Amino acid sequence: MERQLLLLLDLQEVDTRQAELVKRKEELPKEIARLTSELAEREEALRREESEYEDLQRRRRMQERELEGANETLKRYKRQLLDVKTNKEYTAMLHEIENQNKKISDFEEEIITMLEEGDTRSAALEEHRSDLEKERVRIESTKNEREEELGSIDGQVEDLERARAELVKGIDERILEKYERIRLGKKGLAVVAIDKALCTGCFSTLPPQFFNEIRLGAEIHTCESCGRILVWRKDEQTRGGGSS
Ligand SMILES: [Zn+2]
Repeated sequence: MERQLLLLLDLQEVDTRQAELVKRKEELPKEIARLTSELAEREEALRREESEYEDLQRRRRMQERELEGANETLKRYKRQLLDVKTNKEYTAMLHEIENQNKKISDFEEEIITMLEEGDTRSAALEEHRSDLEKERVRIESTKNEREEELGSIDGQVEDLERARAELVKGIDERILEKYERIRLGKKGLAVVAIDKALCTGCFSTLPPQFFNEIRLGAEIHTCESCGRILVWRKDEQTRGGGSS
């Protein structure tokens, strides 16, 4: 019986591992998709930042052309000032020139602000481009790892299925049925190795007399509170030694 119990414990390990792999196979494609969209979002954010910067540069060049035009107009006004005939015309022209000077200084101020903003944005862009490159490397490498993991799952499951078939051969059919029945009702965990006088399935304390019986390994004992099969695992030597 002791041998059977230890085989059950091994079977539980195989089944637990297999359940983990099945779950992982479901999760991995979602994780990979998340990484793909994370990278796409970051690339999109950088593209937006680049286009805002280009837009600023375009507006600045427009202002510079406006400034050139305003300077030309000022020159024309100054030439016209030499040709005015009356005092009234002279005063009016001076007024025009004053207005034009104001316009020019407004343009200049705007252009300076835009140049400063351009410098700030250009420095930020450079930093964000290099950040994105680092992120791209990180995300791509994580994605490759996940894809590799996903690709290896089917093979691992097949290995476990073979190991399971071998284990099952050594287990009494009646005991196996009991195991399967408990496993269905206990979210896949039917057998637990006990550690001291504690059920590691539900963490309840086992009565001392009961604990001693389990240690004898003469029959199947189940936890009074969670119903799982309890197995006392001696050292590894006993497990591998094939004693029955
Ligand atoms: Zn329990």
